[in-house]
Amino acid sequence: MTAESRAPLARKPELVCPAGSLRALQLAVDAGADAVYLGLKDATNARNFAGLNFDDEQLRQGVAYAHARGAKVLMALNTFADARDFGPWQRAVDRAVALGADALIVADAAVMAYCRDHHPSLRLHLSVQASATSYEAIEFYRERYAIQRAVLPRVLTLAQVGQVASHTGVDIEVFGFGSLCVMVEGRCALSSYVTGQSPNTAGVCSPPSAVRWQDTAGGVEARLNGVLIDRYAPDEPRGYPTLCKGRFDVAGRRDYALEEPTSLNTLAILPELVELGVKAIKIEGRQRSPAYVEQVTRVWRAAIDSACATGARYSVQPAWVATLARFAEGQQHTLGAYNRPWR
Ligand code: SF4
Repeated sequence: MTAESRAPLARKPELVCPAGSLRALQLAVDAGADAVYLGLKDATNARNFAGLNFDDEQLRQGVAYAHARGAKVLMALNTFADARDFGPWQRAVDRAVALGADALIVADAAVMAYCRDHHPSLRLHLSVQASATSYEAIEFYRERYAIQRAVLPRVLTLAQVGQVASHTGVDIEVFGFGSLCVMVEGRCALSSYVTGQSPNTAGVCSPPSAVRWQDTAGGVEARLNGVLIDRYAPDEPRGYPTLCKGRFDVAGRRDYALEEPTSLNTLAILPELVELGVKAIKIEGRQRSPAYVEQVTRVWRAAIDSACATGARYSVQPAWVATLARFAEGQQHTLGAYNRPWR
């Protein structure tokens, strides 16, 4: 469908925003998030960084704040449980229920089975960490564990998103904005090679305890568990050292060997995503600052409202682009796999 033939969009997708702290949650809700997602202060979620996430009292306050303003709280419980000790994952589910979370974002079938058997009325969203890229996989999780929403990995083209959405009764959520990994969500073990920990199990890639910065004659070196990830000139912007985004010497040339830091930005295709039946748009970045959460939420609230109200007259506003550019990782953005020209 062309932009010219597009009528106003009747159904508004939910805007789902990150909250790494109570302050970020409050700013996201005030800026127009329909839902926020967050995690507990332990390895049960894939952003297990010191200083981030919620204890029970903060979660209780966050749920009260969001619910009082008509927003939902989704709790990410999206790492894969330690087979030697399922206790933390089981207790995290029970805490989420007791503290009033509206849904859990889950990846591990064992966690889903526990939810199904002990909290059958609890709403489950399939995490991007589950790597479900086909409607058959999503239907499997619906039939077995009654999942009601699936977050699609950032590997599908627009057409493939439409194909999945039209073949399942499960709500589809896609990423709209934020940092990109190298497209192996739920399966990346890169950081395990260097630190022994990965986001899939310990909830963290590049754990801060393994990160070292050092001034040298050749520049500022970033190391991860002793492995040189990058070397920066004194005035060069520095990224958080992750193995996938390091610059390495390959065939005599020093460059990004796996992935150049870039942010996903789908503002330009927002009406298409809605028309394909996408029910929720997710903003990445629980590890980012409250200021990031507030500003990015405001832009996406305005964009979704505009796309759904104006239809063919929707256009990306320069002010939105300017705001997002300030927060984009690597100061550049991409449509990623959504406009991948090959199959
Ligand atoms: S190492 Fe890179 S690709 Fe792997 S999970 Fe971390 S950020 Fe993503």
